[in-house]
Amino acid sequence: MKNIVITGAAKGIGKACVNYFLNNGDNVIALDIDKTALSELSLENAQLSMFNCDVSNSKNVKETIQKAIESVGEIDVLINNAGIQRYSTITETTEEEWDLVMNVNLKSAFLCAKYTIPSMLKKGKGVVVNVSSVQAFITQQKVAPYTTSKTAMLGLTRSIAVDYAPNIRCVAVCPGTVDTPMLRNAIKESDNPEKVYQECIDMHLTKRICPPEEVAALIGFLASDNAGSITGQSFRVDGGLGIHIGGN
Ligand code: NAD
Repeated sequence: MKNIVITGAAKGIGKACVNYFLNNGDNVIALDIDKTALSELSLENAQLSMFNCDVSNSKNVKETIQKAIESVGEIDVLINNAGIQRYSTITETTEEEWDLVMNVNLKSAFLCAKYTIPSMLKKGKGVVVNVSSVQAFITQQKVAPYTTSKTAMLGLTRSIAVDYAPNIRCVAVCPGTVDTPMLRNAIKESDNPEKVYQECIDMHLTKRICPPEEVAALIGFLASDNAGSITGQSFRVDGGLGIHIGGN
C-alpha cells in the first residue's frame, strides 16, 4: 500500500486517478481548490483523505503536504495533475492570465515536488508523475500560455529525473483530448458545440475521445514498481493525435 498525492483530484483525470489508486488499495491524498467538488468525491473510504488546497500557493502547498504526512506517513507518489486551459494568442493574453496559467499548470508542479520529494527521500524511493499534454508536441492556434506551460512540464520532468536518480523516478503523461469537465466546458462555450465535439473526435486516429480512466491507467502503471526502469520520459495517451497533426 502506497501513499499517493493527487492534485486537481476532484474532477476529470484527477478523479479517475483517485478511483484507480483506491481500487489498487493505496492511500490517496486528494488536493483540489474546488471544495464542493472535493466533498462530492467522498466515498466514505478510510483510505481517502481530502485537502482543500490551491496548489499554486506556496504556503497552502507546504502546510497541506505537512498535514498529509502527519496523517498518513511519508509520500510514495506525487501526481501533478491540476491544470487550467485558456484560449488566447500572446497579444490577447493579459499578464494576469499568463501568470495564472503558469502558476496553476507549472509552478504548482514545482511546489508540490519541492515539498514531497524530501518525504520520498526519507523512504529512499518515490515517483513523480507530471500531467502535461500532447500540446507539448503539437501547437494549435490560440493556446499560447497553455502550450508553453505544458512544454515546460517536460523540462521539469527531466530535471527531477536527473537530480533525484536513482531514488526517485519522474515521468510525464501527455493526453490528447480527454472527456472531462475541462473539455465539456470548453466545448459548451464554443460557437457550435456539436461541430467542435465532432472535430475533436475526428482529429484522433482512434476516432474517439479518451475516457479519463485510460489516462489514470497509464499513470497507475508508470507509478508502479513494474515501471521501475522508466524515468525522464514522456508518454502520450492521445489517440495518435500527436503523430497525425505533429508528424512525429
Ligand atoms: P478538469 O478541469 O476537468 O479538472 C481539473 C481539476 O483541477 C479540477 O477539479 C479543478 O478544481 C482543479 N484545479 C484547478 N486549479 C487548481 C488549483 N489552483 N489548485 C488545486 N486544484 C486545482 O481538467 P482535466 O481535463 O481533468 O485535466 C487534468 C489535467 O490534464 C490538466 O493538467 C490538463 O491540462 C491536462 N490535460 C487535459 C486534457 C483534456 O482534454 N481534458 C488534455 C491534455 C491534458
